[in-house]
Amino acid sequence: MTHRVVVVGAGFGGLFAIKALRRADVEITLINGTAYHLFQPLLYQVATGILSEGEVAPPIREVLRRQDNVDVRLGWVQDIDVESKVVSVAGPGIDYTVPYDTLIVAAGASQSYFGNDGFADHAPGMKSIDDALELRARIFGAFEVADLHTDPETIERWMTFVVVGAGPTGTEMAGQIAELAHRTLRGQYKHIDSRKARILLVDAVGAVLNTFGDHLSAKAEIELGKLGVEVRTDTKVVAVDATGIEVESNGQRERIPAMTKVWAAGVSAPPLGGKLAAATGAKTDRAGRILVEPDTSLPGHPEIFVLGDMMNLAGEDGKPLPGVAQVAIQSGRHAADQIKRRLTGKETGQPFRYFDKGSLATISRFSAVASIGKVRLSGFPAWVVWVAVHLFYLVGFKNRVTAVLHWAVSFLGRGRSERVSTEQQAFARQAIRAYGDPFRRTDDRSTATGTADEQAR
Ligand SMILES: Cc1cc2nc3c(=O)[nH]c(=O)nc-3n(C[C@H](O)[C@H](O)[C@H](O)COP(=O)(O)OP(=O)(O)OC[C@H]3O[C@@H](n4cnc5c(N)ncnc54)[C@H](O)[C@@H]3O)c2cc1C
Repeated sequence: MTHRVVVVGAGFGGLFAIKALRRADVEITLINGTAYHLFQPLLYQVATGILSEGEVAPPIREVLRRQDNVDVRLGWVQDIDVESKVVSVAGPGIDYTVPYDTLIVAAGASQSYFGNDGFADHAPGMKSIDDALELRARIFGAFEVADLHTDPETIERWMTFVVVGAGPTGTEMAGQIAELAHRTLRGQYKHIDSRKARILLVDAVGAVLNTFGDHLSAKAEIELGKLGVEVRTDTKVVAVDATGIEVESNGQRERIPAMTKVWAAGVSAPPLGGKLAAATGAKTDRAGRILVEPDTSLPGHPEIFVLGDMMNLAGEDGKPLPGVAQVAIQSGRHAADQIKRRLTGKETGQPFRYFDKGSLATISRFSAVASIGKVRLSGFPAWVVWVAVHLFYLVGFKNRVTAVLHWAVSFLGRGRSERVSTEQQAFARQAIRAYGDPFRRTDDRSTATGTADEQAR
């Protein structure tokens, strides 16, 4: 019988593992909670109307259409029976099981609200297309509502945007909201001046982009200041509600009235990770990531590999590898290589070695920061590198072409191609809760702790 490989998750880890198994004599079943692969690094551009959701989320079937040894199945994996080697899945209205000989689990990370899951209603995170579209509706909607009011306090509340988490995602998001207010929406309202929007970027740590080092961090803060973004570091969020956010800094508590809040701080492993750890006796860290063996398999279970954002594996500096796309991609390829070696009778157990290709973050159009080996770039040169890298990794030729066109609209011109949001998108979160989750997805918010740094690339 052909060796059966089950892959949970069609993110960077799962997809690159599957691609690396293209010529292997295996039958692969890929199970993913959505029918598309999500390019998370560009989600903030969906939220701010630059790109469409289709551009960052190609259908998995299309991506893998030329790979005959894969069966793509829709559903959320609920449980893994590691003794019988069977995965239980909840699909839309149908539950099913899939047996495996080798299992690859690459289910990514969920947003963490550090135990305050109630914040999610008022400050959506940015982990899914639903999140991005809901945020788009809230951001553009806020200007529309502000334009209807006459009371200055109410207008200010609608025109204040607070982004929590000054890692790359939060920085990019704050920069883009500022560009929207100052360039795109300028002059489009009769009763408000969009340039008066207040954009705050808040973080409990002492610097923006703190993993990029002092030099780039300082540059980023200067650039954000030029865009009119108020950076509040060493500032902890202590409460979030519908009309504002409460922060604490130097022992002082302050309420910031703001209708639109974005949560870009903290990640935790999905609940599936906890179940898998309990079933195999593997240890987890504070963020719920599973401590894997050097080859990314689980202790005592060489047939199970855990990859990408879900794994905790020390890098050369002894610190856990970061939750970034390259770690997921390279660990996916490594797991595939281990499987191929095992099937051809070669020695296995080679440790996974991560090659750090660098970190990038955009701040505004034509301005980014890049840390590549010993090279530190900022401003326009870094932005050019950012464009090239994102185009290279964006999946699908069609998506690359349309993304370039949309970038031209937003960065050379001052428009946004994707400003539409529907009522369904605006009320998405509440609607799903009211209806009940038909999918029984397992990536819902967990109470595991995590730091904004853990989200940094
Ligand atoms: C907003 C944002 C911006 C980012 N920007 C960057 C960046 O610029 N550069 C960078 O290097 N990294 C960035 N990252 C991090 C990067 O996206 C992740 O490190 C990477 O996606 C991890 O890959 P993965 O395969 O481990 O998980 P993911 O890519 O998250 O994929 C997990 C997959 O598993 C599926 N899944 C989850 N649970 C289940 C289940 N129970 N059953 C079935 N399917 C399941 C999900 O639907 C998803 O398709 C960013 C992340 C976010 C959220």
